[in-house]
Amino acid sequence: MPEPELSVVVPMYDEQDVIPLFVDRLRPLAEAWGVTYEILCVDDGSSDATPVLLQRLRREWDAVRVVRLRANAGHQAAISAGLDRARGRYVVTIDADLQDPPETIAEMLAVAREQDVDVVYGVREDRSSDTAFKRVTARAFYRSIRALSDVDSRVDAGDFRLMSRATVDAVNALPEQNRVLRLVVPALGFPSASVGYTRAERAAGDSKYPLGKMLRLAVDGVTGFSIAPLRFATWLGLLGGVAALAVLVYAVAAMLLGNTLPGWTSTVVVVAAVGAVQLLALGILGEYVRRTYAALQARPTYFVAHDSLTGGEERADARVTPLPRRDASGGTGG
Ligand code: UDP
Ligand code: MG
Repeated sequence: MPEPELSVVVPMYDEQDVIPLFVDRLRPLAEAWGVTYEILCVDDGSSDATPVLLQRLRREWDAVRVVRLRANAGHQAAISAGLDRARGRYVVTIDADLQDPPETIAEMLAVAREQDVDVVYGVREDRSSDTAFKRVTARAFYRSIRALSDVDSRVDAGDFRLMSRATVDAVNALPEQNRVLRLVVPALGFPSASVGYTRAERAAGDSKYPLGKMLRLAVDGVTGFSIAPLRFATWLGLLGGVAALAVLVYAVAAMLLGNTLPGWTSTVVVVAAVGAVQLLALGILGEYVRRTYAALQARPTYFVAHDSLTGGEERADARVTPLPRRDASGGTGG
């Protein structure tokens, strides 16, 4: 297959209920795009009928390419796997559950070409279909990221976006572990535009994003782009120092005045407060150490089991694509 104009990367984890609906909606649209394309389904180590459905789909629709990961790597890593392998001049990443309308892809492509931009963000204009909890937590997430980091991430832009080849190559060349793509991409600062869309309800199946994974993403996002929490720890420490100084003055005065007996409560409170602040600061530090440690270990965030394009089983000792892609980037990552 020659390199297509457009790659559509779709991460899928246990999406057997959604795949038929997704394909029914996407296929007529894709056939009207008027460009060559590949639908790159990344099977993120699904344990339901997803791999079977994808193999069947591939026989019916030759634009479909299946990359299966050896184990569940998570949403962001699955998208990264897709970006590493996608060959298109433009690459769109979209969820499989039809929360991101596939109709918007054509619009993104048109905007990218007309305005000659590298990135077209899908911006959620209406999230009324999400649960109140999801909306509140998502809002808090984007707000705190904006407040804490230098990244001008668009509020309510998720992982539904179009990227140019240059953007995808730049992202692929980053050695960063646990990338949060919705921050990594705006941080590149490439020329961009956005199109609005209405976030729909999940078409079938359940969300694969429990609270734990959402928190993980938030922590990765903040620690990946901001050292504000570390500063916060420093300020807390300084504040504690000033308070300690005041207590010292008070203690010396009390000693000189001779009334040193009452003091149990204040002692306990001070010890407890200082202990709590220290633990908090340590915890914050720990998150950054974890990131540094992960970067040092440089463990691949995913392993490809097979890729229908290249065919056959892949070795697990490298995630490097057999397709020449990353040679230009030279010594990134050491
Ligand atoms: N997903 C994935 N690996 C995971 C979790 C999710 O590939 O470990 C995929 C999932 O199949 C879907 C997309 O990521 O296509 C978004 O997940 P989901 O819809 O469950 O998240 P939500 O929309 O609830 O935030
Ligand atoms: Mg979803």
